Amino acid sequence: MTCTARQIDELIEEQAAWYAKATAYRPLLPARQLSRADEVKLHRLRLGYRTLEELRDDFESRQCDHCGHLARHPLRHYLLSCPATAQLRQQIGGPEDDEDRAALVLRRALEDLPRLLVVVRSAPPPR
Ligand SMILES: [Zn+2]
Repeated sequence: MTCTARQIDELIEEQAAWYAKATAYRPLLPARQLSRADEVKLHRLRLGYRTLEELRDDFESRQCDHCGHLARHPLRHYLLSCPATAQLRQQIGGPEDDEDRAALVLRRALEDLPRLLVVVRSAPPPR
């Protein structure tokens, strides 16, 4: 797969916007107590990059590893509607926009790292 410079710029912007919304630029603490495997899963969520399939021009949807749902936006599905992560969504409501809501779910989840780790270990985020 090849990307044009403009596509790469767009991907970087998209990721930077997600990172700002989902982390409020707070560092991942306490990083040194995390295993490498846990760290990889948390970075995956915090950076919010697209899955490999999503980068393809003909991408339409991807089947969720946990519930089988065909998702147009796998990470949003994982955070907003996958049954495997239901315990991360105790608060209902929030922003109208799906991506903003997904970022908010993650930002709140990052405040309770032990609970988030239980979820991502049993149901890893899409990658
Ligand atoms: Zn799912």
